[in-house]
This record gives sequence, C-alpha cells and structure tokens, in this order.
Amino acid sequence: MARYTGPVCRLCRRDGTKLFLKGSRCDTPKCAFERRDVPPGMHQFRRGKLTDYGVHLREKQKVKHYYGVLERQFRGYYDRANRAKGNTGDVLMTLLERRLDNVVHRLGWGQSRKQARQLINHGHITVNGGRVDVPSYQTRAGDVIYVKNRKKSLQLVLANLADNARELPEFLTSIEGPIPGGRLNRLPESGDVSIPIQTQLIIELCSK
Ligand code: SF4
Repeated sequence: MARYTGPVCRLCRRDGTKLFLKGSRCDTPKCAFERRDVPPGMHQFRRGKLTDYGVHLREKQKVKHYYGVLERQFRGYYDRANRAKGNTGDVLMTLLERRLDNVVHRLGWGQSRKQARQLINHGHITVNGGRVDVPSYQTRAGDVIYVKNRKKSLQLVLANLADNARELPEFLTSIEGPIPGGRLNRLPESGDVSIPIQTQLIIELCSK
C-alpha cells in the first residue's frame, strides 16, 4: 500500500493545526508547529486568504494526514460512509477511528499511527486471538486486542507505554496483566476524535 514518506511536520504547518504525527516530540517545545506556525514554502507570507474551495480541501487533507491515508483509500471510506445509513460525516469518522492502526496508537502502544502501523505490519498485534497484520483492519465492538506474547513485541510496546502516559478514549478499555491488552467497548463516534474536525466541509467537498 502506497504511503506518504515525506517530512510530516510540513503537513501540520500546511493544515494549520497540530496533527501529532511524531509521537512524544509533538508535546515538546521542539514541535515545528509551535516554533513556526506558518505554512511551509518560500511564499508563506505572500499567500492570501483561502478560497471557499481551499477551506473545504484543507479540512479533507487534515483528516487524511491525521489518519495517514491517501486519496484513493480515503475515497473508499467516503463511498462506504455515503452508502451507509446515518449521518455520512459521523459514519466516515467512525470508519477511520476503527482502523486497527488508530486503535493501537490510541492504546498507547505506538507513539504515532505510523509506528502503530509498523507494529501491525511486523506481526506484533493479535485481534481476538489471531495475528492481524493489516493496519486498515476494521475493528468491531467487543474486539479484544493483545500484543503478541513474544519478547521483542513486549519490549517495543512496554517501552512506548512507559513513554506515553496517554488518557484512553471512552470507547477503549485497557486490560490489565503482564501482556498489554485492550478491548473496544463500543464503536467509536465522531466525538471520540482527538482533534477538531468539521466533517460537514469534507462531505460538501466529496459529494460534488
Ligand atoms: Fe506536527 Fe508533531 Fe511535527 Fe509538531 S512535532 S509539527 S505536532 S508532527
């Protein structure tokens, strides 16, 4: 699966908000957005006001960058949300929050979604007792997620947990024990997203 491999702090500066793409560095004064809260590039001070289209586009790009999905995959999520019953924006955010890489990151096992994706790709994570190595895997309410009972897997995740004292979102519960585990109490909702997103703008843009 194709993925973005360029500098990630540029994405925060471009989208005008902190997207927390670099793990613990994002909470330190080294955060590039804290130091230079202007868009990247040579003509940053000459750029005028965003057009209406630009405002809509930035909101969509923000969500794509936050979850680390590219345009084609994002369109797939939008199409699924559009076909589903209920508010399209809310369904879209639920689909994105249900991704296994997001759940692993929100459990604090990966410092960033990118690192969570690598943990999954390398087979360090199990869902309901079986190994899952697909970062886009859609978790369900009641799913039980564990770190694989293997020295290397435990070392990686325990080190990240010690680094990230993160509050769990309401839809997740941590399972206490020698092997880190977590359970999805319910499906995530758009209110569980940790950055402000105006889903209405995204739907208006994608439905054109
Ligand atoms: Fe964004 Fe984190 Fe870089 Fe700050 S350190 S600009 S929040 S990716």
